[in-house]
Amino acid sequence: MMGNRRLARSIGDMGFFEFRRQLEYKAAMRGGEVVVADRFYASSKTCSACGNKLETLPLSVREWTCPACGAEHDRDVNAAINLKNLAVSSTVSACGEEGSGSARKRRVKPASAKQEVSFVAV
Ligand SMILES: [Zn+2]
Repeated sequence: MMGNRRLARSIGDMGFFEFRRQLEYKAAMRGGEVVVADRFYASSKTCSACGNKLETLPLSVREWTCPACGAEHDRDVNAAINLKNLAVSSTVSACGEEGSGSARKRRVKPASAKQEVSFVAV
């Protein structure tokens, strides 16, 4: 995201390091967990319905149709769904499978809508 001049300025102004630090601090305080997506994770151009990944998706394209399954996506909503699914799958694997016998299994609260926005920015 820092390669895009407009986004780089916005992210720089926001103080992204401080935002992440506070998010992790507050999540830990409330028993939550912050899942950070890899910086190259293609959240916008991966179809949330079938998993097909586009080669390119210019930032100017806000809506697109998956060539594999025909699903119509809003760029940001699709990215949010992909990141939510990534976070859920990370949380499940971090907690272990159900019935693992761990008496100290952590309880993880589902991320609120506000927290999901942070995943989009990563
Ligand atoms: Zn698809």
